[in-house]
Amino acid sequence: MKIALFGAEGKVGSAIRARLEAAGHEVRGIELGDEPDVSGCDAAVDFTTPDAAPANVRAALEQGVSCVVGTTGWEPAELGALAEERGLRLFAAPNFSIGAVLMMRFAREAAAHFPRAEIVELHNEAKKDAPSGTAKATAELIGGDAAIHSVRLPGLVAHQEVLFGGHGETLTIRHDSLDRASFMPGVLLAVRKLDSLQEGLTVGLESLLGLE
Ligand code: NAP
Repeated sequence: MKIALFGAEGKVGSAIRARLEAAGHEVRGIELGDEPDVSGCDAAVDFTTPDAAPANVRAALEQGVSCVVGTTGWEPAELGALAEERGLRLFAAPNFSIGAVLMMRFAREAAAHFPRAEIVELHNEAKKDAPSGTAKATAELIGGDAAIHSVRLPGLVAHQEVLFGGHGETLTIRHDSLDRASFMPGVLLAVRKLDSLQEGLTVGLESLLGLE
């Protein structure tokens, strides 16, 4: 496939470029300041910033190209409607790591049995949004009013703990992305399955893994 990659020189984008090319895809990298020209591409992928992603996605959809978005900290509903109008797909996931999706699912199960939960999300200091998209999605999944604590430090990649408190016991569910390689199988899967999704917006890797 021919794939436009917004943010191809970023920390995640450069890993995605290498992985897509290794899988035989042709990648057109689009950086800040470049024309968002995706003409002739089969799909667009965006790992940029919460400020940049909406304009990139809009430009791709307006050129008739479906999108996979990993950028967090923005609201994709409006552009999902644009995708649907145009018979295209917009796939957005707050976390492309399979372990993180399972962590959220296990947290949802545990929440039915514990009265209180809090979430601690830990990311590299360069991460621009807080709380993380994964923490917000987890809080929504487990319901109630779980507090979210955000830690930003050098050395970290992407980590999250969901702590449950009950009667004389606690349960901690933790996931660690130790390397950006953890996001690659999910991104490849989304690119591969993009055209088979329903038109409009699909959110979350769980919908591609049969885990809903
Ligand atoms: P990063 O290293 O800062 O990379 C962002 C890249 O986007 C930079 O190369 C930046 O260029 C470029 N950029 C900025 N504005 C742009 C524009 N208008 N058009 C094209 N490119 C533009 O950040 P990162 O760690 O790779 O993370 C990127 C995003 O992915 C963040 O929102 C992060 O939270 C998210 N993320 C999601 C997942 C997931 O699984 N969903 C996993 C990891 C990260 P400059 O450096 O020149 O500004």
